[in-house]
Amino acid sequence: MIPALMPTYARLDIAFERGEGVYLYAEDGRRYLDFAAGIAVNVLGHCHPRLVEALRSQAGTLWHCSNMYRIPAQERLAERLVAATFADTVFFNNSGAEAIECGLKMIRKYHDENGAPERYRVITCAGAFHGRTLATIAAGGQAKHLAGFDPVVDGFDHVAFGNLDEARAAVRPETAAILVEPVQGEGGIHPASMEYMEGLRRMADEFGLLLFLDEIQCGMGRTGRLFAHQWTSIEPDIMAVAKGLAGGFPIGACLATEKAARALGAGSHGSTFGGNPLAMTVAGAVLDVILEDGFLDRVEAIAGVLRQGLEDLVRDHAGVLAGVRGAGLMLGLQCRGDSKDFIARLMRNGLLAVSAEGNVARLLPPLIIEDGHVGEALGIIAKTCAEPADG
Ligand SMILES: *Cc1c(COP(=O)(O)O)cnc(C)c1O
Repeated sequence: MIPALMPTYARLDIAFERGEGVYLYAEDGRRYLDFAAGIAVNVLGHCHPRLVEALRSQAGTLWHCSNMYRIPAQERLAERLVAATFADTVFFNNSGAEAIECGLKMIRKYHDENGAPERYRVITCAGAFHGRTLATIAAGGQAKHLAGFDPVVDGFDHVAFGNLDEARAAVRPETAAILVEPVQGEGGIHPASMEYMEGLRRMADEFGLLLFLDEIQCGMGRTGRLFAHQWTSIEPDIMAVAKGLAGGFPIGACLATEKAARALGAGSHGSTFGGNPLAMTVAGAVLDVILEDGFLDRVEAIAGVLRQGLEDLVRDHAGVLAGVRGAGLMLGLQCRGDSKDFIARLMRNGLLAVSAEGNVARLLPPLIIEDGHVGEALGIIAKTCAEPADG
């Protein structure tokens, strides 16, 4: 018999009762060091006092009022995101996939308005992940997400991630945009090179395409800059943000230049819950903390410590670990065996991590981790590597 809860997830048999800082506590009282962070969502850890206070005070004031009316907290958050990025304007919704959908609609509308409605195709990358709606599984192009859901939404051409020649060769008269993750997450933690990002920007300009970045996982400070592409010299036309934006409160945002967004006028797009006062208030508090002087410098510094420690572990346990890659606090440990087994054993030893494509164990800790947490995580990984594989 089907469970009351639709079984779309192969869930681990554990439930957490509460979270505090970098730790989660299971129902049996056991403490876990959380280097999964809800898959890069809990950027400030669990129950950060400033987020709790922001949510509490907003909860007693106003929850929801509809986008039929002005929502000042939405205007303020949009202004702050605009000030901190390339963007001129922001649309708020409730998830990553919705932020991608908004960008995809904007791309079609932009070319339609420019007298080229035939330009609707988007070049995307193999190994990409953009969400689980019909359009975003088509954008991701992964067989395991598409199986059984035919017909596939039309309009996506997939090329190898990191290969500029392939991307150029894929451009045709119908091409409208390029969509890429600056650091592929689900695909196995693959950072794009500076040359690749700059090459995509040049290519977009040459062919009149919009460059759309998916920073849903790698954004919000995870790489040590507010957004990962800010390590490069380029700026996108459109960017999707979600996961860490409100530190665990559901939210998504599509940021864009005026040029790209101009065509999305009143009535062209919408969301009932998007930009809800609760989400806006919590996201504002997240930005308050992340944009404080020195916060991102500390992320970069602690990421260096974690990375060095992982490199050392890879050297000491070459039979279990094949390498480490990534950017900032978005790191992937390449396992020699099944990464899911390795992650289950890490969990038994008190450390939470996330599996990614290609037997990679993803480490996506809260951005507030300190030396002691890094030491604890490295100790657990070392212990796990030293155990026999059958645990
Ligand atoms: C998680 C994720 C998404 C989808 O976000 P949802 O909130 O689950 O819809 C899209 N792109 C990337 C890169 C992600 O990591």
